Amino acid sequence: MLPLIDLRSDTVTRPTAAMWEAMRAAPLGDDVFGDDPSVAAFESALAERLGFEAALFVPSGTQSNLVALLTHCGRGDEYIAAQGAHCYRYEGGGAAALGGIQPQPLPTAADGTMDLGAIEAAIKPDDPHFARTRLVCLEDTFGGRVLPADYPGPVRELCDRHGLSLHLDGARLFNASIASGIDARERCAPYDTVSVCFSKGLGAPVGSALCGSPAFIEQARRWRKVVGGGLRQSGLLAAACHYALDHHVARLAEDHARASELAEDLRDLGLLAEARTNMVWLTLEPGQDRRLVDSLARAGIQARAGPPMRLVLHLDLPSDAVCRILEVVREWLMAPPVRED
Ligand SMILES: *Cc1c(COP(=O)(O)O)cnc(C)c1O
Repeated sequence: MLPLIDLRSDTVTRPTAAMWEAMRAAPLGDDVFGDDPSVAAFESALAERLGFEAALFVPSGTQSNLVALLTHCGRGDEYIAAQGAHCYRYEGGGAAALGGIQPQPLPTAADGTMDLGAIEAAIKPDDPHFARTRLVCLEDTFGGRVLPADYPGPVRELCDRHGLSLHLDGARLFNASIASGIDARERCAPYDTVSVCFSKGLGAPVGSALCGSPAFIEQARRWRKVVGGGLRQSGLLAAACHYALDHHVARLAEDHARASELAEDLRDLGLLAEARTNMVWLTLEPGQDRRLVDSLARAGIQARAGPPMRLVLHLDLPSDAVCRILEVVREWLMAPPVRED
């Protein structure tokens, strides 16, 4: 049996042998009592790395964004986010459902930016007719695209002019940093708070973290407990994230290189493919995604249909992954087309 190739997401990775070893060796305590040394060590290493004074380990990226929103905003407040932002579109409306916090989604350019004038126009006046605008949320990377380096600065200035806070959903912040060559700490500088996922391209099984000021993180810790994210011997998990922070950041460049290689080879076959950091976006004729997904599945390659199809490269792929994918695509292109009714 050939090893499985799972391109559905970079969340699918299993711990490496060395990561398991780090988890096994981690000293543990009870993090709700605040005495798990491995969680504390991870939180301070990450805060230091990203230029913040404090950080909070949380089970998921969704909870990290939720806790950030609950801490930045109160009932009847609102946050401005891109129409396609994860924290607005893909998190079950958690801030509204649990916090009475209203989203103000705005149209978004393909690179994840919202028009500065549109942000400014969406800020509500101080009047009982309106929700109180408190926060702007950005996302980096956005659909695999690195947020333009000159964008967050002016958004920060706008937030300062209007007394708003600025949050970054940096689930794949380190992909953005590696791809742009801009240090993660520098990319984080404009933001009050930053959320980072360790269970994506960084390869940890579970875990995200929220960074901010000590006062903010103290309040966020309360909300984490309220939403059920206070974990006990979570040093086991934080040790995996800490290992990923120390050993899996630079290697993201390999995923980006493989994504570029795959996209280029797919284009050579006449397909419409674009690489963005560790993702390849493949646009096929309508209805053809399903057929390709089925052909890939028969060859032990898991992928999700689009459109467009997103193929995600990560550290848990065999070295011949790109070859094997291309082999299936070549055969699939030569097979007689099946009518889709
Ligand atoms: C995956 C993701 C999240 C949520 O992370 P989970 O750990 O899956 O809850 C948040 N934001 C972005 C941009 C993501 O890609």
